[in-house]
Amino acid sequence: MSIKTALSRLQQIPEIQSRYNVFTYVNERASSQLESIDKNTTADKPLNYTLAAIKDNIATKNMPSTCASKILDGYMSPFDATVVSLLLEAGTVIAGKANMDEFGMGSAGIHSHFGPTFNPLFDHKDRVIAGGSSSGSAAAVASGVVDFALGTDTGGSVRLPASYTSTFGFKPSYGRLSRHGVISYAQSLDTVGVFANDLSMIDRVFSLLDKHDKKDPTSLSEELRHKFTSLTTKRKTLRIGIPEEFSQESVPAEFRAAMTAIIKRLMKKGHEVYPVSIPSVKNALSIYYTLSPAEAVSNLSRYDGVRYGYRAESDVEDGTLFTPTRSAFGPEVQNRIILGNYNLCSESFKNNYIKAQKLRVQLINDFDRAFRFPNVLSGNSVNKDGVDIMLSLTSTSFPTTYDEVVSEENKNPLNTYINDIFTMPMSLCGLPTMTVPAGHAFGIQVFSQHGNDYELLDACSEID
Ligand code: GLN
Repeated sequence: MSIKTALSRLQQIPEIQSRYNVFTYVNERASSQLESIDKNTTADKPLNYTLAAIKDNIATKNMPSTCASKILDGYMSPFDATVVSLLLEAGTVIAGKANMDEFGMGSAGIHSHFGPTFNPLFDHKDRVIAGGSSSGSAAAVASGVVDFALGTDTGGSVRLPASYTSTFGFKPSYGRLSRHGVISYAQSLDTVGVFANDLSMIDRVFSLLDKHDKKDPTSLSEELRHKFTSLTTKRKTLRIGIPEEFSQESVPAEFRAAMTAIIKRLMKKGHEVYPVSIPSVKNALSIYYTLSPAEAVSNLSRYDGVRYGYRAESDVEDGTLFTPTRSAFGPEVQNRIILGNYNLCSESFKNNYIKAQKLRVQLINDFDRAFRFPNVLSGNSVNKDGVDIMLSLTSTSFPTTYDEVVSEENKNPLNTYINDIFTMPMSLCGLPTMTVPAGHAFGIQVFSQHGNDYELLDACSEID
């Protein structure tokens, strides 16, 4: 990493921004911040001269944090998220806040108060989507203006845009990276993830951020982390599972061909490949869209115009307290509020919400039966003959254009929910999962048991 490279990257931002709408805020002081690091020659920090894009739902003290929502217009956090503090201490300069689907709700990067992000792998005039919700993080990395980016993944929001932009996108095990200062969408699923153009950068950033944080009640304890380390094995021969529930006849032929080539390559290297079955995968989409809006609706209740961001004048004038302010949420967030309230209302709570929680446990049990690494949290018995990692596709199709997505959504807003069908099961079980590029605008997912992040990272280098 050199200051020269970093400065020349910064110079490309205005053009990339005008074409692809990657950032919600560009840090105009980034070059002077880089230069001040350069003067401080004693500071040999691990990420010196690296530039990062930070998804706009991760709090930053010196730049607005808006979740790409009008409701948080101009909101300045009084503190940095723990992941941001760790990066700044390590010498990273933040190039800007990355565009996203409002509050992380979406999979195409089109639901932003700042307008859609487009995919830098294509001519901007084609208006091809970059995927979402971490659309700007993926596009910033793919366009080469930053070394890495932070995103968040609740149901696929790091892995799907990574796939559409041919970048690496890593969603670590739930609880590994601190959520302190990460604005909640659905707290039992939200995970900070890392995008980069190569695995070594993912490794460096992940290892730096992989720390217990007492400010995050869901951060994994030191004790658990030691347990994971003692259980992690460096294996010469990996047992690789191909879950049958993730295969779909309708995926593009290129996807199937790439997957077959990867499997053949792994077998040639001496790894063993097995078909596996995770029957509950069929429930994942329904579980996710029952639980995540229910959590979201509680998290979004704090945006009443009193403490944060935007407040409509008419809130006070016409006496309908909060309604005009809360009408500033975009249409997709409003959909989720309706869905979440419905799932929590007394009639559907038992039939939907409780049932979804039970089915989530069943899904975890299914994965526990298939992996050889134990699930320390569930305490289920270990399958000594299980697999170490699994492979699946990340997306069901190539990225389409903005106009196509809008027209699909207009027909039925639920049409685009299906895009996350391959990514949601791992979110519901907190599994570490990486999208590895497998071709132009598509990738495959490599995933493992909760806590087995480092073996997974090693396995990814076998595929890359
Ligand atoms: N597309 C999914 C949703 O809208 C996942 C989003 C995410 O991971 N943040 O909920």
